[in-house]
Amino acid sequence: MKNNMDDAAVDSRKGLILINTGAGKGKTTAALGTAFRAAGNGLRVLVLQFLKGSWHYGEMESAEALNGLDGFTYELRKLGRGFVKVGGAEADPEDLRMVEAAWAESEREILSGDWDLIVLDEINYAISYQMLDPERVIDVLGRRPEMLHVILTGRNAHPRLVEMADTVTEMREIRHAYQKGILAQRGIEF
Ligand code: ATP
Ligand code: MG
Repeated sequence: MKNNMDDAAVDSRKGLILINTGAGKGKTTAALGTAFRAAGNGLRVLVLQFLKGSWHYGEMESAEALNGLDGFTYELRKLGRGFVKVGGAEADPEDLRMVEAAWAESEREILSGDWDLIVLDEINYAISYQMLDPERVIDVLGRRPEMLHVILTGRNAHPRLVEMADTVTEMREIRHAYQKGILAQRGIEF
């Protein structure tokens, strides 16, 4: 017998744009959680980390261990150098160069058709530090494969991107251990 609910569910499959923003903790964590969920459903997942670089992050080892196992596709690439100089009038040229290269790679992968979910981790910082023009991101997202989901993370999501996104979540800080002087904890913060 025909199941209309199933038909509706199939017909409504659609690539989404999601944004995790706000000052509270959990933006990257939630994106990686979605990536973990997606990979378990057989989706081909690519996590591109803007700004992050030389430091060790546990998610890198988890992705490497999972990628290729039992049909899992879960790739994670760090495209920065671990920090960005902020506060000065001008961005550091090396940071600009790295953001430019990270965006070129993102654009290529978004348009490649090779992925079902792409996470652009911390891209909102690159935009809010004026190292990347949000209109370029909007243009490429608008031309992405129909079924591709994209998650953008980082504080101060640009209003134009917020307008374009299907699902936008703002993490609100109630308290952070950091305020008590507790340093970043392995496995929780990195
Ligand atoms: P996480 O990666 O833990 O999900 P996040 O992506 O929401 O954090 P980012 O702005 O990317 O937050 O911050 C990166 C680092 O700063 C993480 O180690 C995170 O725990 C820490 N952090 C996040 N929010 C705060 C805060 N309100 N005060 C201090 N440190 C924070
Ligand atoms: Mg983050």
